[in-house]
Amino acid sequence: MKTCDTIQSLQFEIKSLRAQNLTIGLVPTMGALHQGHISLINKSTEECDITICSIYVNPTQFNSKSDLERYPKTLAKDIELLKSTNCNIVFTPSNNEMYPEPATLKMSFGELEKNLEGVNRPGHFSGVGIVVSKLFNIVQPDMAYFGQKDLQQVAIINSLVQQLSFPIKIITCPIIREKNGLAQSSRNQLLNPEEREAASIIYTCLQNCVDKVDQFSIAEIEENAINQLKEKSLSVEYVSFINISTFAPAEKIESKKTAICVAASIGGVRLIDNVIL
Ligand code: AMP
Repeated sequence: MKTCDTIQSLQFEIKSLRAQNLTIGLVPTMGALHQGHISLINKSTEECDITICSIYVNPTQFNSKSDLERYPKTLAKDIELLKSTNCNIVFTPSNNEMYPEPATLKMSFGELEKNLEGVNRPGHFSGVGIVVSKLFNIVQPDMAYFGQKDLQQVAIINSLVQQLSFPIKIITCPIIREKNGLAQSSRNQLLNPEEREAASIIYTCLQNCVDKVDQFSIAEIEENAINQLKEKSLSVEYVSFINISTFAPAEKIESKKTAICVAASIGGVRLIDNVIL
C-alpha cells in the first residue's frame, strides 16, 4: 500500500493506473478507522481494480472547534489497519494541502438539509460537500463508497453528484455494528466502557420503534423513543421518521422509503444512528 500526502504525489500514482485502464474506487474517511470503514474498503476492493482511502479530518465540516479538537486522530494505527486490507493507496493530506487558501465557498442543499443534521450542525453539509467535491476532483474515481450510518450525508452526496454532473457511481454500504448493536463510529473511542454499553440503547430503541409501527402513530413512537433514551441518561437531539429521498418528516410509513434517525449524546459524545423501514 502506498501513502501519499500531497495531491501531486497522489495524482502521479493515479496517472499510471489510469493509463492501464484500471477502475478506481474512493473511500473518503476522517480516520480513527474501525470495521465500518473497513467494510467500505472491502466493498471497493471487491468492485474496483484500485482502492484509494482518504484520511482527512476536514475542519470545514465541524461547527464546533472543541468537537474538532476532540475528534480522535490515530493515523499510524489507521495505516496499519489499512495494510491488512487490499487498499492500494491511502491519501493523507494536511490542512495546508487541502486548503492552501481559506475556504470561502459555501454549498447549500435546500430542502435536503432543512432537518436533522442540517439544522443541528449548521454549515456541516456545506463543509462535507466542498471536501467531497475536492476529493472527487483530485482522484476522479469511478466509484465512491459511503456508509448508510450517515444517511442524510448519502442524500447530500447523491444530490452533489447529480447537480455537479460528477461521472461517479455512489455506493451506499450497510451499517456495521458492535456486538451490543451500537453503530461503529470513530467517536465511540471517546466513550468509556460503561458509556459504550449504555449507548447500545440507541439501537435497541430504533428496533423498538420498528416493532411499533403497526400499532402507534409516528408522533407517539417518536415521543416514546425520546423518553426511553432519556431514561438511560442520553441527551436527545432528535428521533425522527423521515422520507429518505427528501429528508422531510415522514407523514406515513412506506417500506424502504422511510427511515428513523436518531442523534443523542452520552458523556458529551454525539452519536447518530438510523434504520430504514
Ligand atoms: P467518517 O470517517 O466518520 O467520516 O466516515 C467515513 C465513511 O464511513 C462515511 O461514509 C461513513 O458513513 C462510513 N461509516 C462510518 N461508520 C460506519 C459504520 N458503522 N458502518 C458503515 N459505514 C460507516
